[in-house]
Amino acid sequence: MSQKEVVVSGIRSTGYLHLGNYFGAIHNYIKMQEDYNCYFFVADYHSLTTHPDPKDLKANVFRVVAENIASGLDPEKVALYAQSDIPEIPELYLMLNMLAYKGELERVPTFKDKVRLNPDNVNAGLLTYPVLMAADILIHRGAKVPVGKDQEQHLEMARNFAQRFNSHYGELFPEPQVFRFDENTVKIMSLDGNGKMSKSENVNATIYLSDEDELIRKKIMKATTDSGPQEPNSAMPDYIQNIFQLMQLVSAPDTHATFLDAYNNCSIRYGDMKKQLAEDMVNFVGPIRERAAALQQDEDSIRKILKNGAEKARARAAETIAMARKAIGINYY
Ligand code: ATP
Ligand code: MG
Repeated sequence: MSQKEVVVSGIRSTGYLHLGNYFGAIHNYIKMQEDYNCYFFVADYHSLTTHPDPKDLKANVFRVVAENIASGLDPEKVALYAQSDIPEIPELYLMLNMLAYKGELERVPTFKDKVRLNPDNVNAGLLTYPVLMAADILIHRGAKVPVGKDQEQHLEMARNFAQRFNSHYGELFPEPQVFRFDENTVKIMSLDGNGKMSKSENVNATIYLSDEDELIRKKIMKATTDSGPQEPNSAMPDYIQNIFQLMQLVSAPDTHATFLDAYNNCSIRYGDMKKQLAEDMVNFVGPIRERAAALQQDEDSIRKILKNGAEKARARAAETIAMARKAIGINYY
């Protein structure tokens, strides 16, 4: 396992997983699990920035594990663990914090967004979020990071911190790169055309892997459309492109092609298209939802998976921390 390239990625335990998490992240994890040395984790420390209720934390973490496995991730092939089970991560986070500057952290767009949305909770953890994310990756000396487009800037910061550490203390960390299978990293927009599908925002316009069939149908039928193109081969507005993208992801290729032709010759009926998409979506999400629900009933299995994953992750993390301490000069005994 150790000869393969190291891949690291995490999902915050901030709520129910959705199509964006699936196509932006998990789908890639599954493709990578055979050929890479994969470390995938539930980012429970990251979720603390918004002060979740302690009584919800475990269920949130277990759900992320269950939904990943239900989507096809194999815990035998990868290390699947909880961030909080790896004490080496906060240790590296502390080291990297000494190399991160307040100014650069304040300029991160996602930080600015969060400040705007929650002016009463601008905590230091929120500010140093990219540092913790860098520690998550660098703790395994990760080379490749399959994340959605929304995370690219954080990854650039991780490269900066790695570079800074290397130039202060000697070469230790590779500069982690975004991993993608094709040039267009998938970003799943919300169904109302405002922003992306998300665990914590746009909940009525996001399709969750746990949504019941009827709810999926309802959400898709409410997706934003318009009266249709007026001229052949018109450019598509974002929200229409989004529906086509979803159809491309979950429907048969000829279904997608048929509606695309109809769009291009101005005969498209969005009501019919959404009905078709809703049925294909129900068929796509249904089996994942059922498998995840069954797994969540079996807490013992999830605990075993997490323990096992933590063991694998800590083995590598301990190596890295020993090297980092030595590089910094913390080797007194
Ligand atoms: P939150 O709203 O709590 O930030 P989130 O839905 O943005 O949740 P994250 O845990 O931040 O999910 O991200 C997990 C992974 O899913 C990341 O790799 C991220 O890039 C990807 N991702 C999240 N939303 C989308 C989306 N709409 N389209 C594509 N990828 C996404
Ligand atoms: Mg997010």
